[in-house]
Order: sequence, then structure tokens, then C-alpha cells
Amino acid sequence: MRGIVAALVILAGLGPATADPALDALVAAYPDHLAGYEKNDLVFRDGTRLPIDDGVREKSFDRLLDDPDIEDQFAIPYPLGIAGVKPPARNEDPGRIRNQALFVKMYGDCRKGEVKGRMKAVAWLPGRGGGTVMVTTVNGVADQLAKVSRDLEKLPQDMTRYLVPSSGTYNCRVIAGTKRLSVHAYGAAIDLNAKFGDYWQWAKARDGIFAWKNRIPLEIVEVFERHGFIWGGKWNHYDSFHFEYRPELIALAKRGWPK
Ligand SMILES: [Zn+2]
Repeated sequence: MRGIVAALVILAGLGPATADPALDALVAAYPDHLAGYEKNDLVFRDGTRLPIDDGVREKSFDRLLDDPDIEDQFAIPYPLGIAGVKPPARNEDPGRIRNQALFVKMYGDCRKGEVKGRMKAVAWLPGRGGGTVMVTTVNGVADQLAKVSRDLEKLPQDMTRYLVPSSGTYNCRVIAGTKRLSVHAYGAAIDLNAKFGDYWQWAKARDGIFAWKNRIPLEIVEVFERHGFIWGGKWNHYDSFHFEYRPELIALAKRGWPK
């Protein structure tokens, strides 16, 4: 009997569909595009496949940013919530690792004109003079941002200056100093009022070290996270007025990051 149990355990371990919480979160976050995963492939609804693990071990931090595979996106846990927010450790940039093939496949390639036609105008704090912002409808981003706006309007009036005007949503560009497309190029990110924003590239670095800085009230962060957006203020390479739609990271943080 004990031998049979042991054999079953071994067989289960060899099975193709060993549950992976990070991949489960990813597939659940983007159901319009992702069908599941099988062996080393992330499988799209149209049959396209992307390798989950590219087999490269011990990637440098720069390589993680420049050439991540699907599983690398989960290398750094996103610390959900606003209790105990503190300056991140060196290179602790949860969410900054993005597999460009996955994002371009879902949202389109703006350099080929594939993103603009999928966007729509979302009222941005209309009760406080925010006008509208253009974001993608892909993955329900526009609907989620509308919920963010609705909840932000419930915050005290003195928060308005951080939120209005928005400093931008869609922008077909690469991240400054890199060849990587910004999440703004997919229409899935929003910058709050840059007047109150802090960005690591603007900080005076001393021996490559720059001090973390933030002036954005954490109540605002809480609203965005509630609707699937992560905050650039939780990055060592901080971008404190930047939010982007990454529901897979929020979901995995809620569940508890796998060790
Ligand atoms: Zn931004």
C-alpha cells in the first residue's frame, strides 16, 4: 500500500499540469486572452504559445528587465496595501519586469497602429474638473479605471490636486533610456499630476544610490489597488505618480506569494 501511494505521488509530480499559483493568477487576470498553461507554454485562446521559462538561470537585474520570460514577471513580490509602506530595497521593483511579447499580444503594438482603435474616453473625476482620459478597453482596463475614478471622487477635496490634471495615459513610447515599451504604450497606465510626482531618474544619485521619495497620499494608492492597478511608488526605481493595470500581481499578493 505504501509503495502504491509513493508511486502515485511520483506520478502526480510528473504530471503536466502541476498547479502554479503565479500562472493561475495570470490566466485568471486576463481571461479574454489566456486559455491556460501546459508544460512550459502559456497558451492563448487563439492557440498562440509563449514559453514560461526560457531556461536562463541567474539573470542579472538588467536582464530581468530587458529580457524576462513569463515566470520572471513574478520574481519580485508586490507588497499589497498601504500599511507599512516603506522605501523598497535595492532593485526591489515589483511589476517592473514585463514580458513584452505577452503585453504586445494582448494590447497590440502601438508602433503598428494597433492600440489607438481599442481605446475609449473615460471620465476622470468629472465632478472635480478632470475631463476625460483615453485608455484601452482591452482586459477591461477602461471599466476598471472608471471604478477608480468613482472611488477617488469619494476622497476629501484636498486630494484633488494630486489627481487633476492627469499627466497622461496613452503614449506610444519606450521607457526613457531603454528599448522597452512603456505600459503607457498599451494604454493601460495613468500618470497623476506630475507636479506632485517623484521619479527616480529625476533624483540626484550619489554613487548610483538615490533616495526614495513620495508625496502621493496612500489613500489614493489603496483605491487603485482595489481595482487591479499597481503603484510605481512601490519600486526602488520609483515612479510615484504612475499606476498600471496588473491584476495578476494584486491577485497573487492577496493569495500570498509562493516561496
Ligand atoms: Zn507613467
